[in-house]
Amino acid sequence: MTYYMPVKVYDEAEAVKNHGAEIASFGKKALIITGRASAAKSGALQDVTDVLEKKGRAYCIFNEVEENPSVETIMKAVRKGKDEYVDFVIGIGGGSPLDAAKAAAFLLKLEDPKAADLYDNLLPSDALPVIAVPTTCGTGSEVTGVSVLTVHTKRTKISIPHRIFPKIALIDGKYLKSASHRMIVNTAADALAHMIESYESKKADDYSRAVVLEGLKIWSRSKDILAGEKEPSDEDYANLMRASTFAGIAIAQTGTSLPHALSYILTYDLKMPHGMACGIFLPSYLKEASEEDRKTILNAAGFKNIREFEKYIKILFPDVNVPAETMQRAYDIVSANKVRLKGCRFAVDKEVLKRIAGL
Ligand code: NAP
Ligand code: FE
Repeated sequence: MTYYMPVKVYDEAEAVKNHGAEIASFGKKALIITGRASAAKSGALQDVTDVLEKKGRAYCIFNEVEENPSVETIMKAVRKGKDEYVDFVIGIGGGSPLDAAKAAAFLLKLEDPKAADLYDNLLPSDALPVIAVPTTCGTGSEVTGVSVLTVHTKRTKISIPHRIFPKIALIDGKYLKSASHRMIVNTAADALAHMIESYESKKADDYSRAVVLEGLKIWSRSKDILAGEKEPSDEDYANLMRASTFAGIAIAQTGTSLPHALSYILTYDLKMPHGMACGIFLPSYLKEASEEDRKTILNAAGFKNIREFEKYIKILFPDVNVPAETMQRAYDIVSANKVRLKGCRFAVDKEVLKRIAGL
């Protein structure tokens, strides 16, 4: 068994303020990468710039990362970083800015970076140091080496082959306070997908499964919040974030599986949010797992049986409608990917994949 966890995780109230000296230790000038509004709205950007200023570090801000960031956006951020001679990168936001920060940090390490370098697996996975400050509770990108980008020429999203782990992850539930209920539901479903897919991965072992089972327990504390039955407290925000980080630690070892693979086409074609696009496949995916695994997963997540779980997912995502041609395109792409089909603990043939896709 190999357990590799190169990220230093600070999961605590005021994590950014508490670790200003360590943030400043990565260089003289930072490129801060964010989405358009949420980094400022959540207060995370202010916390980061406060500590940089206090420690006498310069910074510049690239705040144009869209949801499901494109290769073109990464190139824009890289041009800014090169023009400003930055020596480290701070990603603040959901998975989109965090993944963008990793991809940009990889290219910024190259002398004359080009978009094609992102997918050149012969290049070493070297990068400028990355610091990650998550503001959503879904991707776990702060603890994974993965960066998923939209590739318009292929009409889908594709992970870059390089593994760029942040040096430190600064996790603070307070940044979720500015998020809408919908955004929290979507991203918490992504975290749930990571844990279920990780547990059912062929690469799962005792270490990754222990992380999943503990993560599911933490996730289950927010079930009623996600169902809209309770307002979150500070502790709930911290639990939502923590479950997402646990899920990230698990997929950093195992990778994701079929719900994620199918989701990328739904997101590309329908602009469906990532967590929703993964979450809607979870009941049909779990039905294909062994009875023992299904029971273990559902029990840890606080569900009596698969019917209760199916109902719950419908409560989270009541009006999802995927046109047949999009689902067929998703199926066609994933069914042609032999590595994906072989990655599950249970056997997957085309019939099984059809059932998971609901075709
Ligand atoms: P996101 O795309 O980063 O953000 C979704 C929306 O939420 C944006 O409009 C964003 O606003 C807003 N937002 C973020 N934090 C907020 C806050 N605290 N308050 C208010 N609004 C907030 O969402 P995500 O689901 O976290 O990330 C999805 C991306 O991550 C996808 O590209 C997916 O493929 C990738 N992903 C990566 C991994 C990995 O291991 N690296 C794993 C799973 C998914 P702004 O635009 O203003 O920021
Ligand atoms: Fe995901």
